[in-house]
Amino acid sequence: MTNKKYTVLAGTQNQHKILEIIDFLNLEKIEIKTLNDYKNIPEIEENGHTFKDNAYIKAKAYYELVNIPVFADDSGLRVDALNGEPGVYSARFAGDDVSYLDNNTLLLEKMKDVTQNQRSAEFVSTICYLDKNGAHYFTGITNGEITNDFRGDQGFGYDPIFYLPESGKTYAELSMEEKNRISHRGKALAQLKIFLEKKFQ
Ligand code: IMP
Repeated sequence: MTNKKYTVLAGTQNQHKILEIIDFLNLEKIEIKTLNDYKNIPEIEENGHTFKDNAYIKAKAYYELVNIPVFADDSGLRVDALNGEPGVYSARFAGDDVSYLDNNTLLLEKMKDVTQNQRSAEFVSTICYLDKNGAHYFTGITNGEITNDFRGDQGFGYDPIFYLPESGKTYAELSMEEKNRISHRGKALAQLKIFLEKKFQ
């Protein structure tokens, strides 16, 4: 028999994010559903100017569609030498409907003349949790550097070019458990987990 009395929707269609979320959020009382459990979920236009705005836009849209407590993450990479680019445009840095490879190639190209000590960057994840009582936000940030080349084949997005000096590896050289322990999304999910455990007892 299951103890799971509550259901919360993870509002993302990104299969990699879903895997990270499910791996991290195994909660005794809460079943985590994802958008894969629903049919005909439309693409949501993310036209906010901040991670917080976009996380709310997604959470609100999914809450209105499904009507159960929901959380959505908006995340991206901020590169200091590029004045915080690609930021909220991380998914479409090289244009609409581009591949992760296109985005990474463009970023490395833009960084080709940037010296080693100027390659700092941060990954940010803001999660918006929303239910009938309103919204709550959780943000995680992880600092690192942009590599000169691709390293590793795990994960997704900018993982192969985001290097963590303290572990000597890129995100793409970490297992999912290792990544979740130190990543921007892992840090935001850790706060969400504490919040959910308190809320759904
Ligand atoms: P979002 O789905 O609108 O939040 O867009 C996030 C974009 O940022 C993704 O398409 C990736 O390009 C990038 N991104 C976010 N989180 C990660 C991560 O953990 N690793 C690598 N890239 C990420």
